[in-house]
Amino acid sequence: MFNKYQRLSAVLSVFALLITVLFPAQSDAQRHAKKIPTTKELKLDLLIKGGTVINGSGSAPVKTDVGIRGDRIVFVGKSAGFKIDAARTLDAAGMIVAPGFIDPHTHTLEDLSNSKTSGNEDYLMQGVTTVITGNDGDGPFLVAETLNKWEQQGIGTNAALLVGQGRVRGEVVGAGDVQPTIEQLAQMKNLIAQAMDEGAFGMSTGLYYAPGSFAKTEEVIELAKIAAQKGGVYDTHMRDEGSYSIGLLGSIRETIRIGREAKIPVHISHIKALGRDVWGQSRQAVRIIKQARAAGIKVTANQYPYTASGTNVTAALVPRWAEAGGNAELLKRIRDPQIRPRLFVEMEANLIRRNGAEAILITRSRNQELVGKTLGAIAKERNKSPVETALEIVEGGGAGIASFNMNEKDIEYFMKQPFVMTGSDGSSGHPRKYGTFPRKLRQYVFDKKLITLPFTIRRSSALTAETFRIPERGHLRVGYFADVIVFDPKTVADRATYEQPETLATGMKYVVVNGKLAVDEGKYTGNLAGRALRKTLDAK
Ligand SMILES: [Zn+2]
Repeated sequence: MFNKYQRLSAVLSVFALLITVLFPAQSDAQRHAKKIPTTKELKLDLLIKGGTVINGSGSAPVKTDVGIRGDRIVFVGKSAGFKIDAARTLDAAGMIVAPGFIDPHTHTLEDLSNSKTSGNEDYLMQGVTTVITGNDGDGPFLVAETLNKWEQQGIGTNAALLVGQGRVRGEVVGAGDVQPTIEQLAQMKNLIAQAMDEGAFGMSTGLYYAPGSFAKTEEVIELAKIAAQKGGVYDTHMRDEGSYSIGLLGSIRETIRIGREAKIPVHISHIKALGRDVWGQSRQAVRIIKQARAAGIKVTANQYPYTASGTNVTAALVPRWAEAGGNAELLKRIRDPQIRPRLFVEMEANLIRRNGAEAILITRSRNQELVGKTLGAIAKERNKSPVETALEIVEGGGAGIASFNMNEKDIEYFMKQPFVMTGSDGSSGHPRKYGTFPRKLRQYVFDKKLITLPFTIRRSSALTAETFRIPERGHLRVGYFADVIVFDPKTVADRATYEQPETLATGMKYVVVNGKLAVDEGKYTGNLAGRALRKTLDAK
């Protein structure tokens, strides 16, 4: 992207500008003697004028101006004392000006790779200028290939990749509930190392999902050590967010152990207390995390502001042992009269964990008739039990669901923690893909006043960049990339609902990605100004 000299010259020009900004005081005599003009000239591509700037550091808002030249922020301050030559001036009066949001957990891999959806409009309209994808253990190990494709095709937001432990295990070990041989472990390590060398920012796991779930903690630690050596982070959908196996607290302890033993920063994705059995455990979870942080282990988390999670019928209700070997094996087990009764008993228990059949809403299915109905309603229509109905749905190719399993009190308790960032986990059929960032602003900052605006902006931008070690983004700071958003605090809001999940958010007036307007006067421009981000070893 930039060679050493381009980067050096950018740094030097920013430094020169800083000197003129920091040491402007000159006596008239000095000025006369050196023939320095009385007003300093500033050539800009974009001047964002008169807004309330919240810069990502967590500090208080400041009414000031922001100047952009090329793909960089070159000026932050009052522009009044300067002779400004700006190609365009954006009026930000009454608006909030902030660093573009960074989403640490998305499922945008397909959207970004498809020329019809690579603009990432649903995220841009939320103010998101950088997405991370490859989470839940599902990230591709052919990292260079994916990044190159994005680069050639063009993408609307910046995007970074994580290599997925589940993918790697599936490739090397297969879909079975088996342990790797020494050779297979070495092969997995090689794939992780290669992915990191090709630009991945870390390794993700989905220890709840097959086949990632078949890995023991020790195996995950061995792989995480490789990511750690390459300066990467560990991002996890934990083994259990409820009461399925080792429990929410057991999973948090497992994650911390991985961080400690692999010497890697760990990041808990979509932290939650899933299901009635563990409601209220947010307090103990936070206590355990705080202890680990105090002991020097880097533990952070992200969260989306919804009471329903998004998953599928199989992942939510079918026990993992029944999935061993892949889908064909699962279907055989469902039809096996020796196995079916055990499956039934365990699925009944899982349904209770998920708060019952009325708390499961079908959001995606090959059979369109199911979409928008609860599992309970479908079971009634078919005059069958919810578990029988769920098995029919699995046999018919499965279905995506919104699973209403969270308690508002836990959501708010997690949200107030300084180490919890905003992350959409956006998936088709769930409103979080279109609404997460503005919803948090509207509901929790402006309406409920649970958290402050500078606190929230920091946890939606700079802290995320620092956590995932993404250089020169996330702060509104001279010299940084010009990923900048301008939004109206009165109108910023999510519009997506469970009924209409694909409804764009409102309130973003301007969204600038690498110096280019991706949203202009509230409208998506179609500019593909995003960049495929590559981790470099010096960017720790
Ligand atoms: Zn997940």
